Amino acid sequence: MLLPSVLSTPPQLTLAAGDPIDLHLHTLASDGFWTPSGLIDHLAGGGFKVAAVCDHDTQRSVTEATRLGAERGIRVIPGVEMTCGWRERQWHVLIYGIGPERDDADSAAFRACLADIDQALQELADDAKRRIEDSGRALPSLEEFRAGRPLWPFHVLSTAIKENHVKNLKEAAELVVALGGRFTTDLPLARVVDAAHQAGGVAVMAHPGRADAVGIVTAADFDEMAAEGIEIDGLEGHYRSYTDAQTTFYRQMAEERGMVISCGSDSHAPNLPVNPRPWRAEWAEQLLSRFGIAVVHPDDTPVWQEGTDPLVAPPETATAPEAAATVGATS
Ligand SMILES: [Zn+2]
Ligand SMILES: [Zn+2]
Repeated sequence: MLLPSVLSTPPQLTLAAGDPIDLHLHTLASDGFWTPSGLIDHLAGGGFKVAAVCDHDTQRSVTEATRLGAERGIRVIPGVEMTCGWRERQWHVLIYGIGPERDDADSAAFRACLADIDQALQELADDAKRRIEDSGRALPSLEEFRAGRPLWPFHVLSTAIKENHVKNLKEAAELVVALGGRFTTDLPLARVVDAAHQAGGVAVMAHPGRADAVGIVTAADFDEMAAEGIEIDGLEGHYRSYTDAQTTFYRQMAEERGMVISCGSDSHAPNLPVNPRPWRAEWAEQLLSRFGIAVVHPDDTPVWQEGTDPLVAPPETATAPEAAATVGATS
């Protein structure tokens, strides 16, 4: 796809095959706790060359992370993890390559997606707050936790935990539902993907092999989306919870469909549930090439081989639920 001419093109970057990248990171703009500066400091300490800040449904940290990254030699690809709805369930779709500074006509539809879901989340949060307080459960520390951010359900749920009304995010979400409210919303998948493409963005299905959160994504799902004209450009072929066998499976699924492959830790904070992971740049070569980033690797070795990811999940833990208290309801 041709990128709109209005896109400012950052200088060409060339990486070695094993240069560390992480293309799925959260901050305090959504349900994470990394500040942009804390995240960039951590990435710089680990020698990361490319990172993507992909908060849920907002790009509020992207500008600062991009600026701080540039100062430290880290290329930050603008991203966002959009909460989408299709066939009665939610799907997390990473949209890469649309900067928050865009104000051109090609990006208008995507900017409307971001504005609409932000407004819907703020309305749900106001409603959930009122329902919890009306039920006799006070939330006096809400403003402190919110810390000047637009009020989202995550802040209300987290404060309910802090005030000892519930034990974890799952219970907090269940409380809101029991009181007649909702804690999550989404936009139609086709709307988000079409708007992203209009703006020159790349749509990548997040964590297709993760059974918790929004659930597994199958080959049939991708085929049925394509049959409806929903063109998902890629999938997260490397993810913090995958075994080597899963990575091989999802890489093959992508390659059979001409999809690009992304690599993401889904880190939300230091060690929550993991730190950023130093994925090898060559594993996401086609995706990086969409952003003017080239990867040089030896011709005589395959890009991916099982046994080459030192931080891979061991097979025996692969089917265990993810650490419970992580980011629960919204991750
Ligand atoms: Zn995520
Ligand atoms: Zn997700």
